[in-house]
Amino acid sequence: MRSLLQALKNFAEPGPSINVNKVIATFPISPPVSITHFLRLLDRGGVLARLNGRYAKLVNELDLNSDTLVGLVDVHTHPAAHLGFGTELFYGPPDGDPSQVFGNCNGFHGGPGFFDNQEGNEIRRNVVDGIASQHYSPNWDHKRSGWPDFPAWPTWHDRLHQQVRVEMLERAWKGGLRLIVAHAVNSHTLAKVSQTRGPYDDKSSGDAQIAAIKEMVSGQAFMELALSPSDLRQIIGRGHLAVIIGVELDCIGNFYTAWDFSEFNPGLPHPQPAPSDAEIQAEITRLFSSGVRYFFPVHVTDNVFGGAALYEMTFNTANRYQFGSFFEAEPAPASSLIGFTFNPGESFWKKVFENIVQLASLGFDPQGYPPAPPTTTGHRNARGLQHRGQVVLDALMRVGAMIDVDHMGEKTVLDTLAYTKPVNYPVFAGHNLIRDSGGNERAHLIQVATEILDRGGVFGIGTTGGLSLLAKTISQLRNATSQGGIALGSDCSGMEQLPAERSAPAKTLTTATDYEQAGFVVYNDIPGAPFDALQRCQFGNRKEDIDSFGFSHIGMYPDFIEDGISSGLLTDGDVTELFNAPESVTSAWESCLNIASRMG
Ligand SMILES: [Zn+2]
Ligand SMILES: [Zn+2]
Ligand SMILES: [Zn+2]
Repeated sequence: MRSLLQALKNFAEPGPSINVNKVIATFPISPPVSITHFLRLLDRGGVLARLNGRYAKLVNELDLNSDTLVGLVDVHTHPAAHLGFGTELFYGPPDGDPSQVFGNCNGFHGGPGFFDNQEGNEIRRNVVDGIASQHYSPNWDHKRSGWPDFPAWPTWHDRLHQQVRVEMLERAWKGGLRLIVAHAVNSHTLAKVSQTRGPYDDKSSGDAQIAAIKEMVSGQAFMELALSPSDLRQIIGRGHLAVIIGVELDCIGNFYTAWDFSEFNPGLPHPQPAPSDAEIQAEITRLFSSGVRYFFPVHVTDNVFGGAALYEMTFNTANRYQFGSFFEAEPAPASSLIGFTFNPGESFWKKVFENIVQLASLGFDPQGYPPAPPTTTGHRNARGLQHRGQVVLDALMRVGAMIDVDHMGEKTVLDTLAYTKPVNYPVFAGHNLIRDSGGNERAHLIQVATEILDRGGVFGIGTTGGLSLLAKTISQLRNATSQGGIALGSDCSGMEQLPAERSAPAKTLTTATDYEQAGFVVYNDIPGAPFDALQRCQFGNRKEDIDSFGFSHIGMYPDFIEDGISSGLLTDGDVTELFNAPESVTSAWESCLNIASRMG
């Protein structure tokens, strides 16, 4: 039980704008802090958004006047990605003393140095540079040093340094973040080609990340692990950050045989994985017992359950390496609006892989796949939901797990929606957008998104396209249906980029009025800023600035929402929609469990 003093202390933070004595003296008699509001604040562990800013007034009022859970929700983060990809590709744990564990990435990302970098690796450096230069120009000066000055990373366009440190999470929580889903993630192929120390396989990597996420949560007073929707009601109800564990793995349960097998067993046929129904059920039970409640049946490669979305040719190499064959593409129907073609020229990783293949053979030619059939529209994955996919969906529905249909190919998505339809099981699309004409399978058709929401499921809007795409997607979804929940899915510490700065403020802007008139975020250290302007984020010696440098890590959520309000790109209605997400996720999960209890 929290003491009244502690509750008052929480209520009073961050201090300057609220005086506890004054509140005690005035709350019983005068608005705006009525006794009902005061008791509600105590009940919720204090004010929701405590870093000030224009958005804070709106959402704090919303919180006070709502009978349901309020706060920001990010259903797609990867705080333990440092244990994925063979443990040496992604740098930095989410916790621990940053001066010890977040100081310099050279061992992971640098080339070898006999005297100064014995952990370094030239091939891995190539892969790292390939990822670092992808979707970003001009070339990024990848300085290796981190804490305390952080001259280069974390930054919005980088995907290989931790962006979900507990210090960052704590700031986002102080600004109103109330729930994250923390997913284990891995790529056997990337771990292998980057010559990491391993482990390479999805199961070992996933298990290590699940353990690390639990450890991270248990080390922080403001976070708690949520194993049920009633946990969510209690954790968010007391003003803490709830963490749900998820798995976004290519092959849950290691139901694959990576190409390493053929490398070590020349001449033998490559074994096809064939787990029994009981083995699949046992793996879901095992993961559920270890605390996982949110599952991706399919990630970026085909697996025994179904087919993956075709949108990035690099994954074709991974498919061959892990699944034993290249993707099989088929012409997409015109109604799918797909324009993506399965074309070797699409592979911006070609050069990186050619370098790697020269130095370290994959055992096959990554570009040596047969041409896809001709199409007048575009290509999609020919593989749909398999029998084993039905088995895994049954196993997940029986335990009331949250099922995410992102990354599935279109046929597997449609099959999954059809298979779960008879019980109207709510499903999740946790980091996605709406497919426009000429798009690819990674985004959902509006009809699919509508079906997800109409069932009471949740659509987590991917933040990578920034505020305008976020606003556009909110209105696309809300024009389609008023049902279901809208949340955010940043992929922080994952392979999606975070939002860039919109356009850096001109040097001539100096005062708060200048910034405000130009539609930028007014931080509290800008000359002339109001006393309740947004507090600036500082980690180590680095002061963050969303106006000039974009969304560099998860601690920038308050700045992102503030930027939406300041620029006018997000309406009050959009912000309200996003802050209603904890209630929608909780009720979606409650529906999952209700259906599970009827399934027996
Ligand atoms: Zn680095
Ligand atoms: Zn993903
Ligand atoms: Zn991800």
